[in-house]
Amino acid sequence: MTAKVIDGKAFAANVRGQVATHVARLKADHGIQPGLAVVLVGEDPASKVYVKNKHASTIEVGMNSFEHRLPAETGEAELLALIDQLNADPAVHGILVQLPLPGHLNSELVINRIDPAKDVDGFHISNVGLLGTGQKSMVPCTPLGCLMMLRDHHGKLAGLNAVVVGRSNIVGKPMAQLLLGDSCTVTIAHSRTKDLAEVCRRADILVAAVGRPEMITGDMVRPGATVIDVGINRIERDGKAKLVGDVHYESAAVVAGAITPVPGGVGPMTIACLLANTLTACCRANGLAEPEGLTA
Ligand code: NDP
Repeated sequence: MTAKVIDGKAFAANVRGQVATHVARLKADHGIQPGLAVVLVGEDPASKVYVKNKHASTIEVGMNSFEHRLPAETGEAELLALIDQLNADPAVHGILVQLPLPGHLNSELVINRIDPAKDVDGFHISNVGLLGTGQKSMVPCTPLGCLMMLRDHHGKLAGLNAVVVGRSNIVGKPMAQLLLGDSCTVTIAHSRTKDLAEVCRRADILVAAVGRPEMITGDMVRPGATVIDVGINRIERDGKAKLVGDVHYESAAVVAGAITPVPGGVGPMTIACLLANTLTACCRANGLAEPEGLTA
């Protein structure tokens, strides 16, 4: 068996297209333009690339993009004051503080200062609580992207056995909550799980969010399962830099029914879902119907 490749790049382009259509309609019918503010503190090279890509994608779908670049030595009070200002600005519907923040800043304090209704990363403690209790919330972008691809591939997810490997607050835990919300039977595995291979082999849906290159191998995959590889790992092989996932693609793809590649799987969906979340936040702020198919 060779797995169907779930093309995240094409899927993300489609999501961005849907967002752009909604944005155009919001402008034409209501004179509203959704706006996303991104705050970057410091000079982390990877963060600078992410922020640049977010800015370009935001403009491309017709939204306003507000970039705030602050020096690495910015104090807590100054950063919190900026967030207060963005919270109060009616042109800003989504706020994202690029993580990681420099060591002297308390990320939790900063994230929890964002108005939960504008928290398009879904990291505010209120959104975490709302998701955990099955209420309407802002959902973290990466797991939302995974959910969209899974719904598209399977139709209904109810009753399927899902195993999420990884229990981080940004991927593993919200992913598990979303799958539970769609009535999967969910197992969360982590570094202390006993016999991980056996646990993984129970999965109809296997989500790998481990941060360890190619750790999930084909012998851990149930024949016909859907494998979602969240991992982004930069390795060197044969003297060349290479991007690989948390799944060993070659061995998993001959067993799985469907699989996301790295690159070109989950990665592109993350920014697409950030734009979808900004649109959703804008619709909610203006008492308008939420875009269908772009929320959890
Ligand atoms: P974290 O490092 O925060 O969490 C990793 C999780 O994996 C932890 O829960 C850890 O368990 C678990 N784990 C580590 N080693 C093992 C092991 N040997 N067996 C079982 N479980 C293990 O990572 P993130 O969740 O932030 O990210 C996961 C991956 O996803 C990374 O590769 C990251 O780059 C990628 N990523 C991709 C995104 C995208 O846009 N596609 C966005 C965000 C992340 P424990 O809790 O017990 O330590």
